[in-house]
Amino acid sequence: MTTSYDVVVIGGGPGGYEAAIRAAQLGMSVACIERRLGKDGKPALGGTCLNVGCIPSKALLDSSHRYEETQKHLAVHGIDVQGVSLDVPRMIARKDQVVSQLTGGIAQLFKGHGVTWLQGQGKLLAGRRVLWTSLDGQEQTLDAGQVILATGSEPVRIPVAQVDGQYIVDSTGALDFQEVPARLGIIGAGVIGLELGSVWRRLGAQVVILEAQPEFLPMLDKQIGKETLKLLTKQGLDVRLKARVTGAKLDGQQVVVSYEDAEGAKTESFDRLIVAVGRRPVTEGLLAADSGVELDERRFVHVDSQCRTSVPGVFAIGDLVRGPMLAHKAMEEGVMAAEVIAGHATQVNYDTIIGVIYTHPEVAWVGMSEEQARAQGLQVKVGSFSFAVNGRALASHDAQGLAKFIVDESSDRILGLHVLGPQAGDLVHQAMIAMEFGASIEDLQLMTFAHPTLSEVIHEAALSVDGRAIHAVQKRRK
Ligand code: FAD
Ligand code: AMP
Repeated sequence: MTTSYDVVVIGGGPGGYEAAIRAAQLGMSVACIERRLGKDGKPALGGTCLNVGCIPSKALLDSSHRYEETQKHLAVHGIDVQGVSLDVPRMIARKDQVVSQLTGGIAQLFKGHGVTWLQGQGKLLAGRRVLWTSLDGQEQTLDAGQVILATGSEPVRIPVAQVDGQYIVDSTGALDFQEVPARLGIIGAGVIGLELGSVWRRLGAQVVILEAQPEFLPMLDKQIGKETLKLLTKQGLDVRLKARVTGAKLDGQQVVVSYEDAEGAKTESFDRLIVAVGRRPVTEGLLAADSGVELDERRFVHVDSQCRTSVPGVFAIGDLVRGPMLAHKAMEEGVMAAEVIAGHATQVNYDTIIGVIYTHPEVAWVGMSEEQARAQGLQVKVGSFSFAVNGRALASHDAQGLAKFIVDESSDRILGLHVLGPQAGDLVHQAMIAMEFGASIEDLQLMTFAHPTLSEVIHEAALSVDGRAIHAVQKRRK
């Protein structure tokens, strides 16, 4: 039997589920194929993000932050706390409850929008047909007016450190430790390594992060990256750059990791090791040999700026395609694909995709770093302002970090904002909105920001671009 839908989406992560909902809003009949089983063994929507990514990591970041605050940072407020104790299984169970609330919510949204959820595996055949293999192994061919591929990504595996799920884990395993490892090793000082490292350090682990590259978070503005490394190191994260892991072996209940740094070969023993060396697109089993969909040299599905693949009527979005592996990027591409199918001229603005690292303080950025702008031959002016003198940050005993604007000298246009500081992930949206409207830095300078707020740091950073910050002594430029 063949069933027809206007749109078949393969993958029900943030990219796929938003594409499905938007297509349904636009009046199309939609099916979304998702094969994932949640931690409880039941079929689950929401993809990596809701099940084993953004949401569970943020739940644990929040819990661990509260624990550390209660243990170490309340005394300064005159609050003495005794007998603080930790129940890791309860913390993990709360995280799981948040996950199931949200994944269940997507299933409700599908019902409400009339999206059919087909549980199981999807495979693109030639001629815009899709093979659906249900969870109990039944096969059915679907006729699709249009197809959206949204199968996301999975952790990169490296032969030198093979995941066993108990002692050597990937990011998914690291969200489910039932006790705090005394010594925790992490391979990779990327966003995921730093966030998970922060969780377990706050809960009491001694954390060592081994990173092969010489530069820390190379996508960040250099000044912000340097400050971030300083702060995280002060918190107790032992980040070792230029340290390439060459092996990891189990010795009893210890993971013995060998690595090479500038001084030569070394070893370290850990109770647990997290492999966080990046993610790769999921294409295995997705494309029939004659599907016609081209991959690029890194095995991402090749797409144009509106996510069209090499096959007319087949789109691909999210972690499966070029660009940053971020849930909000996947979501906007999903909405764009659905709207393009409906004949709209929607285009994601890739220049204003925000990046956030949810450490404490947070790190967030939009647009170019000073180095990127200069490398493009642009004449830039920059301005920065510190949270250390911001009234609200001091009142909250959270006065660390800085905000830095990168501005085009000739046009006064904002090229980027990079922030290390409390609520940086929210604050950076101000620059994103300004950039979307093509604002000049003067536009921000002329606006009134409420006092006392963290946002005043953004205002002062904007003023400082022209030497006009009020709460700093600067050489006047304008
Ligand atoms: P996915 O979310 O990976 O969803 C794809 C889905 O497709 C999966 O559920 C998979 O089961 C399904 N699938 C695959 N193949 C098939 C098939 N053949 N048939 C049927 N179904 C299939 N991003 C952020 O923006 N902010 C964060 O804070 C953040 N934190 C993260 C923390 C961690 C620990 C991790 C691992 C990732 C994090 N990310 C974060 C990244 C984010 O999770 C991804 O960018 C996002 O989930 C990508 O969405 P997607 O829809 O492209 O793919
Ligand atoms: P990201 O892709 O941002 O998640 O970061 C993954 C990080 O892991 C990158 O910075 C890589 O340089 C790093 N990495 C990959 N392989 C190794 C290795 N064998 N030893 C140490 N670091 C590694």
